Amino acid sequence: MIPYVRDLDFEYGRCDQVSPLIRRVIARNPGPFTFTGTGTYIIGRGEVAVIDPGPDLDDHLEALLAALEPGERVSHILVTHHHSDHSPLARALKARTGAPIYGCAVGMAAEESTIRTEAGADFDFRPDIDLCGGGQVIEGPGWTLEAVATPGHTSNHICFALREENAFFSGDHIMGWSTTVITPPDGDMTDYMASLELVKARGYDVLWPTHGPPILEVTPFIEAYAAHRRAREAQVLKAVIDGYGKITEMVPVLYADVDSRLHPAAARSVFGHMIDLVRRGKVVTEGEPRIDGTYRPAS
Ligand SMILES: [Zn+2]
Repeated sequence: MIPYVRDLDFEYGRCDQVSPLIRRVIARNPGPFTFTGTGTYIIGRGEVAVIDPGPDLDDHLEALLAALEPGERVSHILVTHHHSDHSPLARALKARTGAPIYGCAVGMAAEESTIRTEAGADFDFRPDIDLCGGGQVIEGPGWTLEAVATPGHTSNHICFALREENAFFSGDHIMGWSTTVITPPDGDMTDYMASLELVKARGYDVLWPTHGPPILEVTPFIEAYAAHRRAREAQVLKAVIDGYGKITEMVPVLYADVDSRLHPAAARSVFGHMIDLVRRGKVVTEGEPRIDGTYRPAS
């Protein structure tokens, strides 16, 4: 069982000081993939970094600018990934503040992935400064952020570690209110599981997801999050062993308790597991794994 955290005291457009170095403003874009909306973080005082400006909403841009104290200036705009609820407002914020945009550009596989994705993608996302691969250190007065590559939800997903608070901005990689969507080929389950382990190994005190409240019990939460994926993977493998060769045949069985309107999205998720199982030699298929391919257990 994942120990979800969903209690959040907020008002749209209000700026809340949520830790000594972190302020948060929530955009009015609630929905099935954004929970109450996008939480944009403002880091530091005086010269500040903004993480995930959010959707292209004028109200949210004005709320972010109003959150700045007199004389404060935005020096860095940081983006976790190119989904429509994270990156589009970076351009308007750059136009108003002059701050450069930091992030990892959209990968080749992204377009195909997004055809059936929920949230929609921002293919115009063009960072000024490339953070692909992670490891870059970004500094301002009294704050230090490190870019950490966390592929899985998307291939270009970047999280940010705030050294002064041993805190981690986890984007859509780890969220307290829900599991994350992994949509192949840009989303990748093998990478995702490795990125979960990487974050766990670093021993952060708190995770700040872009949607919802912070996660304070970091290690047990990540362990439960990973166990949930491994349990689903075991079910997929068992279905193949039991003779379900097609993803479309196994989804209604594996997701019997889930609204059938969500079954197409579930099929993409099963496909993510299947690619991983083929790579690890547990399942075989003809040629490259396909969502409509036929699968059987490795003998
Ligand atoms: Zn996303």
